[in-house]
Amino acid sequence: MNTRKRGKVFLVGAGPGDSGLITLKGVQCLEKAEVVIYDYLSDPALLEHAPGTAEKIYVGKSASQHTMEQDDINALIVKKARERKIVVRLKGGDPFVFGRGGEECEVLKDAGVLYEVVPGVTAGIAAPAYAGIPVTHRGFASSVAFITGNEDPTKAQTNIRWEHLAKGVDTLVFYMGVGNLPGITAELMKHGRAPETPVAVIRWGTKSTQQTVTGTLDTIVEMVALKGIKPPAITIVGLVVSLRDQLQWFERRPLFGKRIINTRSRAQASALSERLRDLGAVVQELPTIEIDTAASASAMAAPIANIDKYNWIVFTSPNGVEAFFTALLATWGDIRALGNARIASIGPGTSAAINAYRLKVNVTAEEAVAEGLLKSLEAAGPWTGKTVLLPRAEKARDILPETLQRWGAHVTVAAAYRTVRPTFLDPSIKDAIINNNYDLITFSSSSTFDNFVALFTTEEFSRTAPALKAVSIGPITTTTIRHYGIEPLIEASEHTIPGLVTAIEEYFKK
Ligand code: SAH
Repeated sequence: MNTRKRGKVFLVGAGPGDSGLITLKGVQCLEKAEVVIYDYLSDPALLEHAPGTAEKIYVGKSASQHTMEQDDINALIVKKARERKIVVRLKGGDPFVFGRGGEECEVLKDAGVLYEVVPGVTAGIAAPAYAGIPVTHRGFASSVAFITGNEDPTKAQTNIRWEHLAKGVDTLVFYMGVGNLPGITAELMKHGRAPETPVAVIRWGTKSTQQTVTGTLDTIVEMVALKGIKPPAITIVGLVVSLRDQLQWFERRPLFGKRIINTRSRAQASALSERLRDLGAVVQELPTIEIDTAASASAMAAPIANIDKYNWIVFTSPNGVEAFFTALLATWGDIRALGNARIASIGPGTSAAINAYRLKVNVTAEEAVAEGLLKSLEAAGPWTGKTVLLPRAEKARDILPETLQRWGAHVTVAAAYRTVRPTFLDPSIKDAIINNNYDLITFSSSSTFDNFVALFTTEEFSRTAPALKAVSIGPITTTTIRHYGIEPLIEASEHTIPGLVTAIEEYFKK
């Protein structure tokens, strides 16, 4: 007998779109996958649960565009399983709800391949939930049906028993029904459903681009045409739809649907992007800064070798913290090399980076700018004869070292890192900016703005500048933006990432 493991196929429901709506078991399957065969509707972010070494095969099926025929997909799944692989067949929503999961199982059964099915959150429940529509409700609906809208209702031998559905089920949920909406609504009314029955059509349910249109059986076709709703969308018919007025929440979040471009460096973008997305924004990242620490190794070598000679280490950015500790640990391999140096930080983000090394901050700036830090440092004086290390960006303002020196300190400025301009700019984001197709663009430092400008030709920038919807993290960045003749729409009063987010929320509240 062959002792090697047998292959196995897990048919996993990926959920409707929001990448958090996959089950724990679905994630566990992905984590052990050797092959992932996935569809059009599942969010590509889900693939990150699978090991980097797993083979990922896109067989994307959408109504208009068949990348691979079902027979070929079936054959592929069987083939991979026979290679003794752990195969995850990832399907949008639930694999057994209009997902042809049943057919795939039949094929696997016939081929003698082991399989398991991991249910998913189906769009017919999730999209209404995110639109504030419970599919059942004690007062409004005791039954619900999932119906394919893919069948032309006017064809002679329809499988859908309209006469029973129209009056026999309280809530009707149609999948794939946008194209056939005129036929569906006509058929329901013809078979006795009241024309004033509420109807909602939800496109891209659970995603930050969710769109919901409501009306009644006799108006919804017009409303959908008016709003230009296209697939994929769920249509839900029944009294429960009226609850949306009261219960909707997803589309009411403060930044829902706002398109915000985040220009922070790739390494730092995610904290800001995450906060904005949690509030409902559609965030695109356009990193204008990359951090280069290679060039600064020599500048850091001497201070690191003599690190126990310093009374103070003053940090002015999370990047400086990372670069410093990476160099320190590379040389000493032991955090105690720091000795008794006291530590100062310019703000909460920098302090968090320091705390991550299990170190406390002795002095934090009152206000997160160099002047604010100086104020707090002054109170921690006297500075006469003190040795201070300032690991920071290659280019930075001189006010900190100059003032400390004036107070009598011996200051070593070490270029811990250098910010460089990325060479690649996603052309679709550039187009969106030039064509004013976004709501806000955030700048969290002067260099993000300088580098942003450099991504455009002079002609492009002169077209873009007058309408630029810039958000500035604070006065220094604002001065830089004004230098280009642009007035930022927003300046954060607290000069931190949370402060920036609060300022954006306030702006949209008005
Ligand atoms: N197995 C999937 C359904 C596949 S059929 C599930 O259980 O959800 C494809 C149809 O599902 C689309 O035409 C659309 O009607 C619906 N659908 C899938 N994802 C959707 C989403 N995020 N928002 C609205 N409808 C969606």
